[in-house]
Amino acid sequence: MPASYTSALAESLAPDVLARFLRYVRVDTQSRRDRKSSPSTSGQLELGRVLVAELEEAGLEDVDLDENGYVRGTLPANGSGGGGEANVIGLIAHMDTSPDAPGHGVEPIVHRSYDGGVIVLPREGTVLDPAAMPELADKLGHDIVTGSGDTLLGADDKAGVAEIMAGVAHLAAHPELPRPTLRVAFTPDEEIGEGATLFDVERFGARCAYTLDGSEIGELQDETFSAASAVLTVRGVEVHPGQATGKLVNALRLAAQIVAALPSATLTPETTADREGFIHPHEMTGTAGKAEVRFILRDFDDDLLKNHVALLERTAKQVTAAEPRARLELNVRDQYHNMQRVLSATPDVTDAAEAAIRAEGIEPIRRPIRGGTDGSKLSEMGLPTPNIFTGGHEYHSVREWASVQDMAAAAAVVVRLAEVWSRDGHGDG
Ligand SMILES: [Zn+2]
Repeated sequence: MPASYTSALAESLAPDVLARFLRYVRVDTQSRRDRKSSPSTSGQLELGRVLVAELEEAGLEDVDLDENGYVRGTLPANGSGGGGEANVIGLIAHMDTSPDAPGHGVEPIVHRSYDGGVIVLPREGTVLDPAAMPELADKLGHDIVTGSGDTLLGADDKAGVAEIMAGVAHLAAHPELPRPTLRVAFTPDEEIGEGATLFDVERFGARCAYTLDGSEIGELQDETFSAASAVLTVRGVEVHPGQATGKLVNALRLAAQIVAALPSATLTPETTADREGFIHPHEMTGTAGKAEVRFILRDFDDDLLKNHVALLERTAKQVTAAEPRARLELNVRDQYHNMQRVLSATPDVTDAAEAAIRAEGIEPIRRPIRGGTDGSKLSEMGLPTPNIFTGGHEYHSVREWASVQDMAAAAAVVVRLAEVWSRDGHGDG
Protein backbone atom coordinates (compact mmCIF):
# COMPACT_ATOMS: atom_id res chain seq x y z
CA MET A 1 0.00 0.00 0.00
CA PRO A 2 1.48 3.41 -0.95
CA ALA A 3 2.08 5.48 2.18
CA SER A 4 -0.20 8.25 0.95
CA TYR A 5 -3.38 6.23 1.67
CA THR A 6 -4.67 6.36 5.23
CA SER A 7 -5.86 2.73 5.14
CA ALA A 8 -6.50 -0.27 2.91
CA LEU A 9 -10.19 0.67 3.08
CA ALA A 10 -9.42 4.15 1.73
CA GLU A 11 -7.29 2.68 -1.03
CA SER A 12 -10.08 0.30 -2.04
CA LEU A 13 -12.60 3.18 -2.15
CA ALA A 14 -10.36 5.55 -4.12
CA PRO A 15 -11.19 4.42 -7.70
CA ASP A 16 -14.94 4.72 -7.03
CA VAL A 17 -14.62 8.12 -5.32
CA LEU A 18 -12.52 9.45 -8.18
CA ALA A 19 -14.76 8.08 -10.95
CA ARG A 20 -17.84 9.62 -9.33
CA PHE A 21 -16.06 12.91 -8.65
CA LEU A 22 -14.90 13.24 -12.28
CA ARG A 23 -18.50 12.60 -13.45
CA TYR A 24 -20.07 15.15 -11.11
CA VAL A 25 -17.66 18.02 -11.71
CA ARG A 26 -18.45 17.99 -15.46
CA VAL A 27 -22.06 18.98 -14.74
CA ASP A 28 -22.39 22.77 -14.45
CA THR A 29 -24.21 23.28 -11.14
CA GLN A 30 -23.19 26.85 -10.40
CA SER A 31 -25.89 28.55 -8.31
CA ARG A 32 -27.14 32.08 -8.97
CA ARG A 33 -27.78 34.84 -6.41
CA ASP A 34 -31.22 36.42 -5.89
CA ARG A 35 -32.96 33.23 -6.89
CA LYS A 36 -36.62 33.21 -7.91
CA SER A 37 -37.09 29.50 -7.27
CA SER A 38 -35.25 26.51 -5.81
CA PRO A 39 -32.87 25.39 -7.17
CA SER A 40 -31.56 28.63 -8.69
CA THR A 41 -30.19 26.87 -11.80
CA SER A 42 -31.29 23.83 -13.82
CA GLY A 43 -27.83 22.21 -13.86
CA GLN A 44 -28.37 21.29 -10.21
CA LEU A 45 -31.45 19.27 -11.20
CA GLU A 46 -29.39 17.54 -13.88
CA LEU A 47 -26.84 16.43 -11.28
CA GLY A 48 -29.72 15.59 -8.91
CA ARG A 49 -31.13 13.14 -11.47
CA VAL A 50 -27.71 11.53 -11.91
CA LEU A 51 -27.44 11.08 -8.14
CA VAL A 52 -30.94 9.63 -7.84
CA ALA A 53 -30.03 6.98 -10.42
CA GLU A 54 -26.75 6.20 -8.66
CA LEU A 55 -28.35 5.96 -5.20
CA GLU A 56 -30.94 3.53 -6.60
CA GLU A 57 -28.25 1.53 -8.34
CA ALA A 58 -26.32 1.31 -5.06
CA GLY A 59 -29.43 -0.16 -3.43
CA LEU A 60 -30.73 2.72 -1.32
CA GLU A 61 -34.44 3.08 -0.58
CA ASP A 62 -36.93 5.99 -0.65
CA VAL A 63 -34.76 7.76 -3.20
CA ASP A 64 -36.23 10.99 -4.53
CA LEU A 65 -35.52 14.40 -5.98
CA ASP A 66 -38.10 16.78 -4.52
CA GLU A 67 -39.72 19.83 -6.13
CA ASN A 68 -37.11 22.17 -4.56
CA GLY A 69 -34.14 20.20 -5.89
CA TYR A 70 -33.21 18.20 -2.76
CA VAL A 71 -32.04 14.61 -3.32
CA ARG A 72 -32.70 12.10 -0.55
CA GLY A 73 -32.16 8.40 0.00
CA THR A 74 -32.11 5.87 2.83
CA LEU A 75 -29.79 2.97 3.61
CA PRO A 76 -31.62 1.00 6.33
CA ALA A 77 -29.78 -0.35 9.38
CA ASN A 78 -28.58 -3.91 8.91
CA GLY A 79 -29.62 -5.20 12.30
CA SER A 80 -26.15 -6.24 13.38
CA GLY A 81 -27.40 -6.56 16.94
CA GLY A 82 -24.95 -3.91 18.08
CA GLY A 83 -27.70 -1.92 19.71
CA GLY A 84 -27.42 1.09 17.43
CA GLU A 85 -30.05 0.07 14.86
CA ALA A 86 -32.51 2.59 16.21
CA ASN A 87 -30.23 5.46 15.27
CA VAL A 88 -30.92 7.45 12.10
CA ILE A 89 -27.85 9.40 11.02
CA GLY A 90 -27.73 11.97 8.21
CA LEU A 91 -25.00 12.56 5.62
CA ILE A 92 -25.21 15.84 3.70
CA ALA A 93 -23.30 17.55 0.89
CA HIS A 94 -24.24 20.35 -1.51
CA MET A 95 -24.55 19.95 -5.27
CA ASP A 96 -24.07 23.56 -6.34
CA THR A 97 -20.78 25.34 -6.97
CA SER A 98 -19.85 28.94 -6.24
CA PRO A 99 -20.96 31.81 -8.50
CA ASP A 100 -17.64 33.54 -7.67
CA ALA A 101 -15.53 31.78 -10.34
CA PRO A 102 -16.39 30.38 -13.81
CA GLY A 103 -18.18 27.03 -13.40
CA HIS A 104 -19.16 26.07 -16.93
CA GLY A 105 -17.18 23.54 -18.97
CA VAL A 106 -15.09 22.09 -16.13
CA GLU A 107 -12.46 19.74 -17.56
CA PRO A 108 -10.80 17.95 -14.68
CA ILE A 109 -7.19 16.77 -14.87
CA VAL A 110 -5.69 14.07 -12.62
CA HIS A 111 -2.00 14.69 -11.91
CA ARG A 112 -0.74 11.29 -10.74
CA SER A 113 1.84 10.94 -7.98
CA TYR A 114 2.55 14.60 -7.23
CA ASP A 115 6.28 15.39 -7.25
CA GLY A 116 6.18 18.55 -5.12
CA GLY A 117 6.71 20.99 -7.98
CA VAL A 118 4.62 23.78 -9.48
CA ILE A 119 1.53 22.37 -11.27
CA VAL A 120 0.99 24.25 -14.54
CA LEU A 121 -2.57 24.12 -15.90
CA PRO A 122 -3.17 24.31 -19.67
CA ARG A 123 -5.36 27.43 -19.75
CA GLU A 124 -4.91 31.08 -18.84
CA GLY A 125 -1.49 30.61 -17.29
CA THR A 126 -3.00 29.27 -14.06
CA VAL A 127 -0.45 27.61 -11.79
CA LEU A 128 -0.58 25.88 -8.42
CA ASP A 129 2.56 26.88 -6.59
CA PRO A 130 3.33 24.84 -3.46
CA ALA A 131 5.32 27.83 -2.14
CA ALA A 132 2.01 29.68 -1.80
CA MET A 133 -0.03 26.59 -0.85
CA PRO A 134 1.41 24.85 2.22
CA GLU A 135 -1.29 22.14 2.06
CA LEU A 136 -0.29 21.21 -1.49
CA ALA A 137 3.36 21.03 -0.46
CA ASP A 138 2.29 18.31 2.01
CA LYS A 139 0.78 16.04 -0.66
CA LEU A 140 3.93 14.43 -2.08
CA GLY A 141 2.99 11.22 -3.89
CA HIS A 142 -0.74 12.05 -3.92
CA ASP A 143 -2.89 12.10 -7.05
CA ILE A 144 -4.04 15.72 -7.41
CA VAL A 145 -7.18 16.68 -9.33
CA THR A 146 -7.46 20.19 -10.78
CA GLY A 147 -9.54 22.01 -13.37
CA SER A 148 -7.94 23.18 -16.61
CA GLY A 149 -7.10 26.69 -15.39
CA ASP A 150 -10.13 28.62 -16.60
CA THR A 151 -12.83 27.29 -14.24
CA LEU A 152 -13.25 26.23 -10.66
CA LEU A 153 -12.98 22.48 -10.08
CA GLY A 154 -16.10 22.02 -7.95
CA ALA A 155 -14.51 19.97 -5.17
CA ASP A 156 -16.63 22.34 -3.07
CA ASP A 157 -18.71 20.34 -2.65
CA LYS A 158 -18.72 17.54 -5.23
CA ALA A 159 -15.86 15.96 -3.29
CA GLY A 160 -18.33 15.66 -0.39
CA VAL A 161 -21.03 14.28 -2.71
CA ALA A 162 -18.64 11.67 -4.20
CA GLU A 163 -17.36 10.64 -0.75
CA ILE A 164 -20.86 10.09 0.65
CA MET A 165 -21.89 8.19 -2.50
CA ALA A 166 -18.82 5.94 -2.40
CA GLY A 167 -19.17 5.40 1.36
CA VAL A 168 -22.85 4.40 1.30
CA ALA A 169 -22.39 2.30 -1.87
CA HIS A 170 -19.62 0.40 -0.06
CA LEU A 171 -21.82 -0.12 3.01
CA ALA A 172 -24.74 -1.26 0.85
CA ALA A 173 -22.48 -3.77 -0.91
CA HIS A 174 -21.07 -5.04 2.41
CA PRO A 175 -24.00 -6.00 4.64
CA GLU A 176 -21.54 -7.60 7.08
CA LEU A 177 -20.39 -4.10 8.07
CA PRO A 178 -22.47 -2.73 10.96
CA ARG A 179 -24.46 0.42 10.33
CA PRO A 180 -27.33 2.48 11.69
CA THR A 181 -29.98 3.77 9.29
CA LEU A 182 -28.24 6.31 7.08
CA ARG A 183 -30.19 9.17 5.54
CA VAL A 184 -28.45 10.88 2.64
CA ALA A 185 -29.30 14.39 1.41
CA PHE A 186 -27.76 16.39 -1.40
CA THR A 187 -28.78 20.04 -1.20
CA PRO A 188 -28.99 22.87 -3.77
CA ASP A 189 -27.92 26.52 -3.48
CA GLU A 190 -25.61 26.30 -0.46
CA GLU A 191 -23.21 28.80 -2.00
CA ILE A 192 -25.92 31.49 -2.08
CA GLY A 193 -26.83 30.80 1.55
CA GLU A 194 -30.03 28.86 0.82
CA GLY A 195 -28.96 25.24 1.26
CA ALA A 196 -30.88 24.75 4.49
CA THR A 197 -33.81 27.07 3.70
CA LEU A 198 -36.18 24.44 2.28
CA PHE A 199 -34.58 21.45 3.99
CA ASP A 200 -37.38 19.43 5.57
CA VAL A 201 -35.75 18.42 8.87
CA GLU A 202 -38.82 16.56 10.11
CA ARG A 203 -39.19 14.49 6.96
CA PHE A 204 -35.44 13.78 6.99
CA GLY A 205 -36.02 12.20 10.39
CA ALA A 206 -32.41 11.93 11.56
CA ARG A 207 -31.20 12.52 15.11
CA CYS A 208 -28.11 14.30 13.80
CA ALA A 209 -26.20 14.71 10.54
CA TYR A 210 -22.76 15.46 9.14
CA THR A 211 -21.94 17.76 6.25
CA LEU A 212 -18.92 16.71 4.22
CA ASP A 213 -17.96 20.23 3.18
CA GLY A 214 -14.67 20.99 4.93
CA SER A 215 -11.20 21.08 3.46
CA GLU A 216 -7.91 19.71 4.83
CA ILE A 217 -7.79 16.05 5.87
CA GLY A 218 -8.71 15.65 9.55
CA GLU A 219 -10.86 18.77 9.86
CA LEU A 220 -13.86 18.40 12.14
CA GLN A 221 -15.78 21.59 12.72
CA ASP A 222 -18.47 22.17 15.31
CA GLU A 223 -18.08 25.94 15.58
CA THR A 224 -19.08 28.51 12.98
CA PHE A 225 -19.52 32.26 13.07
CA SER A 226 -22.73 33.82 14.25
CA ALA A 227 -23.78 36.14 11.49
CA ALA A 228 -25.84 39.25 10.84
CA SER A 229 -26.17 41.50 7.82
CA ALA A 230 -27.04 45.18 7.80
CA VAL A 231 -28.18 47.65 5.19
CA LEU A 232 -27.54 51.26 6.12
CA THR A 233 -29.45 53.89 4.15
CA VAL A 234 -28.65 57.60 4.34
CA ARG A 235 -31.05 60.08 2.75
CA GLY A 236 -29.73 63.54 2.10
CA VAL A 237 -31.15 66.54 0.23
CA GLU A 238 -30.30 66.59 -3.45
CA VAL A 239 -29.96 70.01 -5.10
CA HIS A 240 -28.35 71.05 -8.40
CA PRO A 241 -24.73 71.77 -7.45
CA GLY A 242 -25.04 75.25 -9.01
CA GLN A 243 -27.75 76.20 -6.54
CA ALA A 244 -26.55 74.02 -3.68
CA THR A 245 -25.14 76.63 -1.35
CA GLY A 246 -26.45 76.00 2.13
CA LYS A 247 -29.01 73.46 0.83
CA LEU A 248 -27.34 70.30 -0.46
CA VAL A 249 -26.99 67.48 2.06
CA ASN A 250 -24.76 64.87 0.39
CA ALA A 251 -25.81 61.37 1.41
CA LEU A 252 -22.77 59.77 -0.26
CA ARG A 253 -20.39 61.92 1.75
CA LEU A 254 -22.18 61.04 5.00
CA ALA A 255 -22.13 57.33 4.17
CA ALA A 256 -18.39 57.53 3.45
CA GLN A 257 -17.86 59.30 6.79
CA ILE A 258 -19.71 56.55 8.61
CA VAL A 259 -17.51 53.86 7.00
CA ALA A 260 -14.39 55.93 7.79
CA ALA A 261 -15.47 56.36 11.43
CA LEU A 262 -15.67 52.60 12.00
CA PRO A 263 -12.60 50.84 13.42
CA SER A 264 -10.11 49.94 10.66
CA ALA A 265 -7.13 48.62 12.62
CA THR A 266 -9.32 46.05 14.38
CA LEU A 267 -12.75 44.51 13.71
CA THR A 268 -12.13 44.07 9.97
CA PRO A 269 -11.75 40.74 8.12
CA GLU A 270 -8.25 41.78 7.02
CA THR A 271 -6.98 42.55 10.54
CA THR A 272 -8.57 39.68 12.50
CA ALA A 273 -8.00 35.94 12.84
CA ASP A 274 -9.01 32.89 14.88
CA ARG A 275 -11.88 33.85 17.19
CA GLU A 276 -12.03 37.58 16.46
CA GLY A 277 -15.11 39.01 14.81
CA PHE A 278 -15.60 41.92 12.42
CA ILE A 279 -17.80 44.57 10.82
CA HIS A 280 -17.32 44.38 7.06
CA PRO A 281 -18.74 46.95 4.60
CA HIS A 282 -18.84 45.06 1.29
CA GLU A 283 -20.96 47.21 -1.01
CA MET A 284 -21.63 50.93 -1.28
CA THR A 285 -23.94 52.54 -3.83
CA GLY A 286 -25.80 55.79 -4.14
CA THR A 287 -26.19 59.37 -5.24
CA ALA A 288 -25.93 62.66 -3.39
CA GLY A 289 -29.59 62.20 -2.49
CA LYS A 290 -29.49 58.64 -1.21
CA ALA A 291 -26.68 56.25 -0.33
CA GLU A 292 -26.68 52.66 0.77
CA VAL A 293 -23.91 50.65 2.48
CA ARG A 294 -24.19 46.89 2.95
CA PHE A 295 -22.39 45.21 5.83
CA ILE A 296 -21.86 41.74 7.15
CA LEU A 297 -21.11 41.36 10.86
CA ARG A 298 -19.52 38.23 12.32
CA ASP A 299 -18.40 36.82 15.65
CA PHE A 300 -18.20 33.44 17.38
CA ASP A 301 -19.85 34.95 20.44
CA ASP A 302 -23.48 36.08 20.13
CA ASP A 303 -23.03 38.87 22.72
CA LEU A 304 -19.98 40.24 20.92
CA LEU A 305 -21.94 40.12 17.66
CA LYS A 306 -24.63 42.25 19.35
CA ASN A 307 -21.88 44.68 20.41
CA HIS A 308 -20.70 44.97 16.79
CA VAL A 309 -24.25 45.76 15.66
CA ALA A 310 -24.55 48.36 18.45
CA LEU A 311 -21.23 49.94 17.47
CA LEU A 312 -22.35 50.25 13.85
CA GLU A 313 -25.61 51.86 14.93
CA ARG A 314 -23.91 54.27 17.36
CA THR A 315 -21.30 55.31 14.80
CA ALA A 316 -23.92 55.93 12.11
CA LYS A 317 -26.02 58.03 14.50
CA GLN A 318 -23.06 60.07 15.73
CA VAL A 319 -21.95 60.93 12.20
CA THR A 320 -25.41 61.88 10.96
CA ALA A 321 -26.26 63.80 14.16
CA ALA A 322 -24.13 66.66 12.82
CA GLU A 323 -26.57 67.05 9.92
CA PRO A 324 -30.19 67.16 11.17
CA ARG A 325 -31.59 67.29 7.61
CA ALA A 326 -30.16 63.84 6.84
CA ARG A 327 -32.17 60.70 7.53
CA LEU A 328 -30.74 57.42 8.64
CA GLU A 329 -32.14 53.93 8.42
CA LEU A 330 -30.45 50.75 9.58
CA ASN A 331 -31.93 47.34 8.79
CA VAL A 332 -30.19 44.49 10.60
CA ARG A 333 -30.97 40.89 9.70
CA ASP A 334 -30.03 37.83 11.72
CA GLN A 335 -28.41 35.27 9.39
CA TYR A 336 -27.24 32.22 11.34
CA HIS A 337 -25.74 31.29 14.70
CA ASN A 338 -22.65 29.52 15.91
CA MET A 339 -23.60 25.82 15.82
CA GLN A 340 -21.56 25.24 18.99
CA ARG A 341 -24.58 26.39 21.01
CA VAL A 342 -26.58 23.38 19.75
CA LEU A 343 -23.72 20.90 19.45
CA SER A 344 -22.44 21.42 23.00
CA ALA A 345 -25.81 20.08 24.16
CA THR A 346 -25.35 16.89 22.09
CA PRO A 347 -21.65 16.09 22.58
CA ASP A 348 -22.03 12.50 21.29
CA VAL A 349 -22.54 13.86 17.75
CA THR A 350 -19.11 15.47 17.45
CA ASP A 351 -17.53 12.69 19.54
CA ALA A 352 -18.73 10.06 17.04
CA ALA A 353 -17.11 11.96 14.15
CA GLU A 354 -13.91 12.32 16.11
CA ALA A 355 -13.90 8.57 16.82
CA ALA A 356 -14.52 7.81 13.11
CA ILE A 357 -11.66 10.07 12.00
CA ARG A 358 -9.32 8.49 14.55
CA ALA A 359 -10.44 5.01 13.44
CA GLU A 360 -9.17 5.97 9.98
CA GLY A 361 -5.79 6.73 11.55
CA ILE A 362 -6.12 10.50 11.20
CA GLU A 363 -5.55 13.05 13.96
CA PRO A 364 -8.65 15.31 14.05
CA ILE A 365 -8.05 19.02 13.45
CA ARG A 366 -10.45 21.10 15.52
CA ARG A 367 -10.61 24.65 14.18
CA PRO A 368 -13.64 26.95 14.24
CA ILE A 369 -14.87 27.96 10.76
CA ARG A 370 -14.67 31.68 9.98
CA GLY A 371 -17.88 31.32 8.03
CA GLY A 372 -21.06 29.29 8.05
CA THR A 373 -22.15 25.94 6.65
CA ASP A 374 -25.50 24.35 5.88
CA GLY A 375 -24.97 22.84 9.33
CA SER A 376 -25.14 26.24 11.07
CA LYS A 377 -28.76 26.64 10.06
CA LEU A 378 -29.64 22.94 10.24
CA SER A 379 -28.34 22.78 13.81
CA GLU A 380 -30.61 25.71 14.71
CA MET A 381 -33.49 23.96 12.94
CA GLY A 382 -33.08 20.99 15.30
CA LEU A 383 -30.68 18.79 13.34
CA PRO A 384 -27.23 18.95 15.03
CA THR A 385 -24.80 18.95 12.07
CA PRO A 386 -21.02 19.33 12.42
CA ASN A 387 -18.77 19.49 9.35
CA ILE A 388 -16.15 16.97 8.17
CA PHE A 389 -13.20 17.42 5.77
CA THR A 390 -13.38 16.57 2.04
CA GLY A 391 -9.76 16.88 0.86
CA GLY A 392 -10.48 19.87 -1.44
CA HIS A 393 -8.62 23.21 -1.36
CA GLU A 394 -8.52 26.76 -2.83
CA TYR A 395 -12.29 26.84 -3.09
CA HIS A 396 -14.11 29.35 -5.30
CA SER A 397 -11.07 29.85 -7.53
CA VAL A 398 -9.55 28.55 -10.78
CA ARG A 399 -6.76 27.05 -8.64
CA GLU A 400 -9.15 24.73 -6.80
CA TRP A 401 -7.68 21.24 -6.28
CA ALA A 402 -8.35 18.02 -4.40
CA SER A 403 -6.26 15.03 -3.33
CA VAL A 404 -7.62 11.63 -4.39
CA GLN A 405 -6.02 10.03 -1.33
CA ASP A 406 -7.67 12.54 1.03
CA MET A 407 -11.05 12.19 -0.71
CA ALA A 408 -10.73 8.42 -0.27
CA ALA A 409 -9.94 8.99 3.42
CA ALA A 410 -13.17 11.00 3.79
CA ALA A 411 -15.17 8.21 2.12
CA ALA A 412 -13.55 5.77 4.57
CA VAL A 413 -14.57 8.05 7.46
CA VAL A 414 -18.20 7.70 6.27
CA VAL A 415 -17.86 3.91 6.56
CA ARG A 416 -16.23 4.22 10.02
CA LEU A 417 -18.90 6.66 11.17
CA ALA A 418 -21.54 4.03 10.41
CA GLU A 419 -19.61 1.58 12.55
CA VAL A 420 -19.32 4.04 15.46
CA TRP A 421 -23.06 4.79 15.45
CA SER A 422 -23.98 1.11 15.35
CA ARG A 423 -21.99 0.36 18.51
CA ASP A 424 -23.79 -0.69 21.61
CA GLY A 425 -24.49 2.24 23.84
CA HIS A 426 -23.85 4.89 21.22
CA GLY A 427 -26.69 7.29 20.91
CA ASP A 428 -28.80 5.81 23.71
CA GLY A 429 -29.21 9.26 25.22
ZN1 LIG B 1 -19.10 24.12 0.27
